Amino acid sequence: MRKPFICGNWKMYKTVAEAVAFINEAKGLVAGTGDVEVGIGAPATALKSLADAAKGTNIRIGGENCHWEKEGAFTGEISPGMLVEAGCSFVIIGHSERRQYFGETNETASKKIKAALASGLDVILCCGETLAEREAGKTAAVVDDHVRNGLAGLDVRQLQKIVIAYEPVWAIGTGKTATPAQAQEAHAGIRKLLADLFGKNAADSIRIQYGGSVKPENVKEIMAQPDVDGALVGGASLKPDSFAKLVHYGK
Ligand code: PEP
Repeated sequence: MRKPFICGNWKMYKTVAEAVAFINEAKGLVAGTGDVEVGIGAPATALKSLADAAKGTNIRIGGENCHWEKEGAFTGEISPGMLVEAGCSFVIIGHSERRQYFGETNETASKKIKAALASGLDVILCCGETLAEREAGKTAAVVDDHVRNGLAGLDVRQLQKIVIAYEPVWAIGTGKTATPAQAQEAHAGIRKLLADLFGKNAADSIRIQYGGSVKPENVKEIMAQPDVDGALVGGASLKPDSFAKLVHYGK
């Protein structure tokens, strides 16, 4: 049985003070979701304060990116160990905004994933096609490429620490959500690929989140799809009441 994982991705939003205020308001609202895992990916500056504020709650805190080296002359970068020290238990890797604006590739994503796992972090690996790729009929090939190469070299034991987030780029921050059927089709394709790469048991236990304009109004129908095991949510995760509605989608 896969435990649903609803995770916010705050991107470059919220100061430290705003982040802590969010947790103080949200912690009561998101309590009691024993059957749903709850997380927030946040800007690096806020992680330590956020993790401290979230202690004793059911909210996991994660980074939105990391470097693959433990330390070194990499100005502006943050290592997986630094995320752990700040109180993170997971990191988002390969988000389409990292791929589009910051040169993330499958190769760098793969290196980051291995380093993150070695530091004890869980990983959310993002994949998904652009609108042009979808219109050219390349959705399955693009998603296959992101997942296959992002996970290259991992074994079944390491896979247990991975969550895949299918995020069609055309649906991120646009208000255009994939239909539940489109999400299910992509998720089923990812699970089939995982079965080919890691075996059916591993594929059946890995969680696949959907991301792209998920909000309280559409989360229930997306989550009702058999291969959708959670959501990675940007805009609608920024307000405590909206985030709480997402994590309580089943009620
Ligand atoms: C995201 O940032 O991963 C995302 C899905 O954003 P939004 O929910 O705003 O589309």
